[in-house]
Amino acid sequence: LDAVAPQDVAPFIRIEGVTKRFGTFTAVSSVTLDIKKGEIFALLGGSGCGKTTLLRMLAGFETPTEGRIFIDGQDMTGVPAYERPVHMMFQSYALFPHMTVEKNVAYGLKHERMTDAERKARVREMLELVQLTQFSHRKPHQISGGQRQRVALARALARQPKLLLLDEPLAALDKKLREHTQFELMDIQDKTGTTFMVVTHDQEEAMILSNRIAVMDKGEVKQVGTPTEIYEYPDSRFVAGFIGSITFFDGKVASVTGDTAMIEVPDFGGQVSARAIPGISAGQDITLALRPEKIAIGRTKPEGPNAIEGTVDDLGYFGKDSLYKVKLGSGKVLSVLSVNGRRVGEGERVADWEDRVWLSFDPGAAILLT
Ligand code: ATP
Repeated sequence: LDAVAPQDVAPFIRIEGVTKRFGTFTAVSSVTLDIKKGEIFALLGGSGCGKTTLLRMLAGFETPTEGRIFIDGQDMTGVPAYERPVHMMFQSYALFPHMTVEKNVAYGLKHERMTDAERKARVREMLELVQLTQFSHRKPHQISGGQRQRVALARALARQPKLLLLDEPLAALDKKLREHTQFELMDIQDKTGTTFMVVTHDQEEAMILSNRIAVMDKGEVKQVGTPTEIYEYPDSRFVAGFIGSITFFDGKVASVTGDTAMIEVPDFGGQVSARAIPGISAGQDITLALRPEKIAIGRTKPEGPNAIEGTVDDLGYFGKDSLYKVKLGSGKVLSVLSVNGRRVGEGERVADWEDRVWLSFDPGAAILLT
């Protein structure tokens, strides 16, 4: 007998070695992912990286060329889309313009075996969940974009899917509404406990919305982790560069002592101290990466090991913070984000154009990449 993992320890969604080829082109390449019950999981990547194709395979709109997909322990191979416990919410929402909000939501239950009373009760419950009860008799063109998104969500959740797939759920909304809607979406997910899988190319959206993120590139999953793990501990240059802003430096490992590594960085004109990563040893080439907000900037030389001198090359003021482009002795320019920066003429700024400045960073803030 094959050993079968008990249901309660098996992942809720399992994508096992899934590859999708269109002719000779590989859109999704050997992807293996486990998704937990009740989590918001994001597939994040640039255009054409294969995230939508992966979502469509979960929905049953595409068949994997290789590999298998399990939902709640059930192998989905050969299960048609309409028989899967999955619902997909499209970017365009695909609402029926001639139907009221209520009818649009009820449409999601068309194929469900339930009495009229049960159907009515479910629709009412869904409209309450998305706080649209008072708009139930309006048509889609009589409500706002954000409200339309909630109608689509109510319709998608009405069937109580085990997995809700959301393709760029906030893309149709303007920036302000998007921020608000993110929190609404999280709240609704929390209330229903439905597992959400979100496709997005927007890293901030993925960071805010999801419990875990899979970063994809050219059909492959590059890294899976919580937003903090992905941001603070990227394990490749691709992931480090894709999420947030960062500057890379070529270096060489000088020594490793416990969890601290001394790195020789020619652009810094000497050695700096960084949090070591497993498996590195003296003499090897390494990339050191720094995020703008992890670097302190000042006029005087700071105490501590990681002090670098430079000149302010450019400066931008954003209100709550300022971005400095600091030119190092080597000519390399490093971005530094400093809170409480002051505007030109107000005289309280950390530094001005052409000023000599000192930069410093905590060893734990330096990201090492092999
Ligand atoms: P976007 O954000 O632009 O939608 P994506 O990451 O969702 O990008 P996919 O739509 O999954 O990307 O497409 C991945 C690759 O597979 C693309 O190069 C695309 O052209 C190709 N592709 C997708 N569907 C098909 C198809 N039916 N036939 C041939 N190639 C396809």
